[in-house]
Amino acid sequence: MKNIFIIFLCASLLLCAREISLLPDGKMHLYILDVDQGDSFFVVTPQGKHILIDGGPNLSTLEHLGKYMSFFDRDIELVIVTHPDADHITSLPNVLHRYTVNNILLSGALHTSGRYQELLDTISQKEISVLLPSPTQDILIDGITLDIIWPPPNIVGLHPSSQNNFSIVTRMMFGNDTILFTGDIEEEAEQLILASGVNVRSTIMTAPHHGSRTSSSTGFLLEVNPDLILISAGKDNRYGHPHGDVLDRYTSLNIPIKTTPSLGTISMKFDGV
Ligand SMILES: [Zn+2]
Repeated sequence: MKNIFIIFLCASLLLCAREISLLPDGKMHLYILDVDQGDSFFVVTPQGKHILIDGGPNLSTLEHLGKYMSFFDRDIELVIVTHPDADHITSLPNVLHRYTVNNILLSGALHTSGRYQELLDTISQKEISVLLPSPTQDILIDGITLDIIWPPPNIVGLHPSSQNNFSIVTRMMFGNDTILFTGDIEEEAEQLILASGVNVRSTIMTAPHHGSRTSSSTGFLLEVNPDLILISAGKDNRYGHPHGDVLDRYTSLNIPIKTTPSLGTISMKFDGV
């Protein structure tokens, strides 16, 4: 009986310590989740709200959310679905079932995969508020500004030949830090974004399309001018992401990188100053 009491006490203390460590601390936390070959990024705002950008190629995003969210908190303020490819959405129907998602941002491009349809069905079944990219309306959450710089709104309802170039690109601003989330855009979208004249300069950038050879064009890198590039990819993945030529390009421009294959989940903290 005494042993059971001690085990219960230890478990309670551990749970308390975990919950205390997850209390809002006035900082923005960014997690590049280690989900294998795909993308899933999680942001905790200074007041403890949650933003999820993509849901990876498997269900591991759910496991990660369990680690970084309070046991008693089931709310996600915003889910951004950069584009409907399987390596970005696979966990999302489950996320929508397990958590209360207040808003979901979709690119507006059409797609016919079963998993994407399941996601759309879940959104409508749960009556989740759907947002579409707007060039004139930023999203503000707890002192964080999300400027959705791509795609343009006139793609709504289109069946694009390449989903990648219609990925949602978000410039997230908090204090002096700016993070550019690029989805799977390739050179064509990079050039169109530059041609639009929008401000892309950012201190941190996620590597477009996992560092593929068809992305990260020099002109785009020069304009974004990041101090750090974060790469989400699977170890020894069959696509060869990130590509050696692209890594050489980053090196030649003196841009350091951090990758999930070498580091696992990457976590960063921002003070907002
Ligand atoms: Zn991808």
